[in-house]
Amino acid sequence: MRQGLKMILGLVPELKQKLLVVLLGKIIETIIGAVPLVVLIAIMTALFKGTATTETIIFYSGIMLVCALLYWGTTFVSLRISWPLGTLLSTRMRLLIGEHIRKLPMGWFQGRSTGASLNSLVSDEMQMIQMIPSYILPSLVPVFFIPAALLLFLPWLDWRLSLMLVAVIPPAILFFVRGQKAHAKGFNGRSKSLARMTSDTLEYIQGMEALKAFQHVGSGFKRLDSSMRQFHKDSLKSIIPGITPGFAFLTCLDLGTPLVLTGATLFYLEGSLSLETFLIFILLAPRIHDPLRQLLGASGMYRFAEPGLVAVKEILEQKPLPEPHIEKAPEGHEIKFKNATFSYHDRKILDNVSFTVPEGKITALVGPSGAGKTTITNLIARFWNVDSGTISIGGRDVKQIPQKILMDNLSMVFQDVYLFNDTIYNNIAFGAPEAGREEIINAAKTAYCHEFIMGLPEGYDTIVGERGDRLSGGERQRISIARAILKDAPVILLDEATASVDPENEALIQAALAGLVQSKTLLIIAHRLSTITSADQIIVLDGKGGIAETGNHQTLMQSEGLYKRFWKSREKAESWSIKEKSK
Ligand code: ADP
Repeated sequence: MRQGLKMILGLVPELKQKLLVVLLGKIIETIIGAVPLVVLIAIMTALFKGTATTETIIFYSGIMLVCALLYWGTTFVSLRISWPLGTLLSTRMRLLIGEHIRKLPMGWFQGRSTGASLNSLVSDEMQMIQMIPSYILPSLVPVFFIPAALLLFLPWLDWRLSLMLVAVIPPAILFFVRGQKAHAKGFNGRSKSLARMTSDTLEYIQGMEALKAFQHVGSGFKRLDSSMRQFHKDSLKSIIPGITPGFAFLTCLDLGTPLVLTGATLFYLEGSLSLETFLIFILLAPRIHDPLRQLLGASGMYRFAEPGLVAVKEILEQKPLPEPHIEKAPEGHEIKFKNATFSYHDRKILDNVSFTVPEGKITALVGPSGAGKTTITNLIARFWNVDSGTISIGGRDVKQIPQKILMDNLSMVFQDVYLFNDTIYNNIAFGAPEAGREEIINAAKTAYCHEFIMGLPEGYDTIVGERGDRLSGGERQRISIARAILKDAPVILLDEATASVDPENEALIQAALAGLVQSKTLLIIAHRLSTITSADQIIVLDGKGGIAETGNHQTLMQSEGLYKRFWKSREKAESWSIKEKSK
C-alpha cells in the first residue's frame, strides 16, 4: 500500500496537503469519539470512590452529549473533505492517462485489447482507485490511533493485563500478512480475466451486426460465456485462499477479550487487582481489538484498487514517440521516402523504399491488398517510426517535426470514418476547433453536406449517434471531408472508399473531394480507375515490400509491367460488373 500511496502522491502532488487535512480531521474525530469512554471511566471511578454527586453525573452526561454532537459534526466535515479527494484523484489520473496515450505510437493501440482494458481502467478500476483517499486511508486512522493511545495509558493501571491485551496482536498480524499474500496472488489473474471479459463484452456488442448477419450470435456468445466463467473462477481464486487466514486473524483478535477477562478475574480473586481496574480493562479490551478488524476491510478494498494502479503505472511508463530537441517546421510540402524500411513486429512491410510525392500534385498509391499502402500514409503521419531510412516533408525528417506541427500540416481522410457521438456541427468543427460558424457552414457546403444537414430535424445540432450510425456511409464520408476542408492542411492523405455507395452519393463524394484537394499535395490510396488515370503520378507497390514502377498512366501503360497487368485485370472486372448490372 505504501508504494501505491507513493505513486498516487507522485502523480497528483496537490493531494498530499488535502490528504493530511483529512487524516488530521480523522484523528480529531477519533479522539472526540474516544472521550465518552474516558468520561465513563471517570464516572465509574467516582462511583467506586463514592465521590459521585448528582452535579458531577449531570456534568459528565453534558460532556458526553457535547462529544456526541461534536463527533457527528467532525464525521460530517471529514466526509465532505475526503470524498471529493477520490474524484479529484480519479479525474486527474484519467486526464494524465488521456494526455499520455495521446503521445504514444499507434503500435501501442493495436494488437492487444487495449481499448477494452483502457475502458475498464478509466471506468470500473478508477472507481476503486478513488476509494483510496476517500475511504481506505481515513479508515486506517482508528486502526492505529486507538490501540496506540490506549496502550500508552493502560500499562500504568496494570502491565500484566496490558500484555495480555497485546499478546493476540502479533499472531493476528501474521495471519493477516499470510492472507494478504494469498489474495495478492489471485488478484493478478482476476484482473487479467476482468480485462478479457470487458474486451469480449465490447466485441460482442459492437460486432452484433456481423454476428447476426452471419448467424454467429451463438458462437459469439459462447466466447463471452467462457470469459465470464473464467472471470468467475479467477474471482473465487482471488478470494478463497485468503478466507482461512482472514478468519484466523479475526479469531485471534476475538480471543483478546476472553483472555483479558480470564486474567482479570484471576488477579481480582487473588486480590492483586481492584474492581475498578478490572472493569476498565473489560470495557477497553474490545476498543483495542475492534479497530484492528477494519484492517481486513481496508486492505480487501485496496486489493481491488491495486490492479488499476498497476495498469496506470504500466501505461504511464510506455515511452512516447520522442519529440525533436530542435523544432523544425517543414519548408514546403514535398514528401520524400529515402531507403525506408519498416516492419510490424517481425514482418517486413517496406524494404528499402524510395519515392517522392511532389508538392501540389496528385500521387496515387496502387498495389495488391496488404502491400503497405495504408502503412505508408501512417508512416508519414508518424504513427510509427521507420526502422531505417528517412521520411521527410518539405526537406525535414518527420522525426524532427514536432507532432503538433506535423499534424497541422496533414489532413487524413480515412475510409472508416470516425464520428463522435456529438452534434454534426462539433464533428465538423473537430477539424479546426477555433473556426467560426460561418467557416463551418462553408466547409459543409464545399463538401456537399449542407443540404442533407439542413434536411435533418435539428440541422447542424443533430446528434450523429454512436460512431455516426444515424447517418449513411456516404454522408459520414462527406462530413469527414468537410472536417478536412475546414482544417485546410497543405498535405492530404486520402484513403479512397472501396465500398460502393449509391451513384448519387458517389458523385457527391467526388465533388466534395474536388473541393478538398485544390492546390494541395495529395497522396491517395486509389481504388477507382478514374482517380488513377487522372493522377499526376502513380506509385505501384509490388506486394513484396518494394516499388514495382512509378510513372503516370500513359507511361506505365507503355511498359509491360505490373501496372499494365493490374489495369487489365481491373478493366476486365469493371466491364464484367457493368455487364452484370445491365442484365
Ligand atoms: P494495404 O493498405 O496495402 O492493404 P496495409 O498497409 O494496411 O496494406 O498493411 C500491410 C500489411 O501489414 C498487411 O499484411 C497487414 O495485415 C499488416 N498490418 C497492418 N497493420 C498492422 C499492425 N498494426 N500490426 C501488424 N500488422 C499490420
